[in-house]
Amino acid sequence: MRRIVIWITAMVMLGAYIAGMAKLVKADRVAWLQGPSGHCEEVPQGNSAPWRVVLLGAPGVGKGTQAALLAEQMGACHLSTGDVFRHADGRPECEQSVAMQEAMEFMRRGELVPDATVWEMVRERKACLHCRGGFILDGFPRTLAQAESLQTLLVREGLALTAVVNYEMPEAEIVARLGGRRTCEACKAVYHVTERPAKVDGQCDKCGGKLVLREDDRPEAIKVRLEAYERSTAPLISYYQKMGLLLRVPATGSAEEICVRTIVDLKGRRLKGFAEKLWAAAENRRDT
Ligand code: AMP
Repeated sequence: MRRIVIWITAMVMLGAYIAGMAKLVKADRVAWLQGPSGHCEEVPQGNSAPWRVVLLGAPGVGKGTQAALLAEQMGACHLSTGDVFRHADGRPECEQSVAMQEAMEFMRRGELVPDATVWEMVRERKACLHCRGGFILDGFPRTLAQAESLQTLLVREGLALTAVVNYEMPEAEIVARLGGRRTCEACKAVYHVTERPAKVDGQCDKCGGKLVLREDDRPEAIKVRLEAYERSTAPLISYYQKMGLLLRVPATGSAEEICVRTIVDLKGRRLKGFAEKLWAAAENRRDT
């Protein structure tokens, strides 16, 4: 009898899980990639407590992969500033502003795009911060100035970050990862020559597109990017730690393992906050 009850409960839970998964709509990110002229057809369903998360970590730790996985699992929108630049890079020159053309020159050299350009781009897309599914910010903020501008904007818009995840990995592993990374020219899917090879060498499993070494994954650009990270982005770790938002997550293991670790930590943090509020309310009741 007990076995039957367990079996039925497991089936009901599995059914609810699958139904919940079906409700998760994969955001098409048009408004983010195109800016104010774009309109999303596919918007995440959202829930009463959307996740608003920033991902930090040196280039190569796998923030992009994690952002995509987390967005899918948590029903949020993946907002990557690097993707906006790469999307603009693929468009005809006559459609690109001068600031965008200059930004792409910085990107090709592996340097950070100036704060003013990045901020203008994000500010224009502030509606995406209100996405009902929440957001996973990947590659932004990258400097203290960007983090402060974001914080001011969030407060003005009545929004708050849920957490800031810092992915941690030794530098030697980062260099090996970036050098072996290959990206599909067409759909931007990411592979690795040894860790995550495509089924057919040089060809994307998903769309058959050509796999290339991103310009900013060339060895000269990797060096510049890591220096830029140490100089400009690493200070954000203590900035967010002081705000009580930082979660440190080891970025070793498979992408799926890292994703599960991140979700467990994020949910744990939310539960802890919830428990603290309940506890404080109970204390208040006792005192009055
Ligand atoms: P990512 O895909 O996040 O590694 O970004 C690729 C490149 O875009 C970076 O190496 C920079 O040149 C540029 N970029 C993306 N986001 C930012 C940002 N928040 N601040 C400055 N440059 C950025």
